[in-house]
Amino acid sequence: MINIPLTQPYSEINFLNKEIKKAIAKVLSSGSYILSNECSLFEAEFSKYLNAEYVVGCNSGTDALFIALKAIGIKENDEVIIPSHSALATCAAVKMTGAKVIFADIEKDFYTINPKSVEDKISKNTKAVIAVHIYGQSCNMDALQKICRKHKINLIEDCAQSAGAEYRSKKLGTIGDIGCFSFFPTKNLGTVGDGGCVVTNNKKFFEFSKKFRQYGWDENRDSKFPGINSRLDEIQAAVLRVKLRKLDLFNSLRNEIAKNYIDLIDNPSLQLPIVRQESFHSFHLFVVLASNRDKLIGYLESNGIQAGLHYKKPIHETGGYSQDISLPVTLDIYKKNVSLPMYPFLKESQQNKIIKILNNFN
Ligand SMILES: *Cc1c(COP(=O)(O)O)cnc(C)c1O
Repeated sequence: MINIPLTQPYSEINFLNKEIKKAIAKVLSSGSYILSNECSLFEAEFSKYLNAEYVVGCNSGTDALFIALKAIGIKENDEVIIPSHSALATCAAVKMTGAKVIFADIEKDFYTINPKSVEDKISKNTKAVIAVHIYGQSCNMDALQKICRKHKINLIEDCAQSAGAEYRSKKLGTIGDIGCFSFFPTKNLGTVGDGGCVVTNNKKFFEFSKKFRQYGWDENRDSKFPGINSRLDEIQAAVLRVKLRKLDLFNSLRNEIAKNYIDLIDNPSLQLPIVRQESFHSFHLFVVLASNRDKLIGYLESNGIQAGLHYKKPIHETGGYSQDISLPVTLDIYKKNVSLPMYPFLKESQQNKIIKILNNFN
């Protein structure tokens, strides 16, 4: 029986129970359920939190990536470079535009997209790079920015796992041209349904995104260009406003757990994460590498501890998205990755149990 789950979004909701119920009740009695006060207020509050000019709420992180790609003008036959070590959503969003997905390899120490591999993959058709801050770890943004500027291509940040994380004291999502967030319930800033947003300092990208999320409509509901329907509803926005006030607290709790794991797991067969210098990690996931990952997962589960795989397969080896290419670091890491329980309310006694059990693994 599992008694320590991998993630537990309910514990955050429960901690904020009264405020969340009040916020939802206010929406119910307001009579406005789509794109009204709560969404506008959340957009303003999140842009202030991030220190960014503009935020546009939408229906999911996948949609945020799709909107961002459309905002920078990605068309069929353009090429977009992404890591294969990511959620399928990163790739799905590129596919939705009709552009060609080009996979780059990742950095061995940080698991984030490798700038050298990106540069190797650039062609005359390359229009954008998506930097995925995987597990909450910042990509090497200086190097990526330099490459993108040199080749005059856009840099999109996939911040689905990195809400509140930083690189050189800047919030992730505000460094590239557009940042994309997911508010899926288990994410660092999660809601009670689907949600997402794009973040930018570029007025043109902002205005496009705001229209594109609703059929290309302007303020007068005149459609200026074809769009989609991807809105952040009022209940999700109201919950997000409550949860945003606790994002820094929750991220610091995650960092305390990560510190405990890093300080106290001393099993030499496990490789622990390394945090990039001059960055703040959001520890969406705490991933260790084990040469015998299946055995480790079975062992943890037989001790009541749920373990996860992020990811089970690299995207380039996944059914509908597969490509016959060689990405040696990606392959090595996916074969070894095991995610340990990580959420703000993981108790100290539970952490100690996990650490003790891991230290006895052989
Ligand atoms: C969760 C996630 C997404 C997709 O977000 P949804 O809200 O589920 O569409 C995209 N990229 C990464 C890296 C993710 O972890």
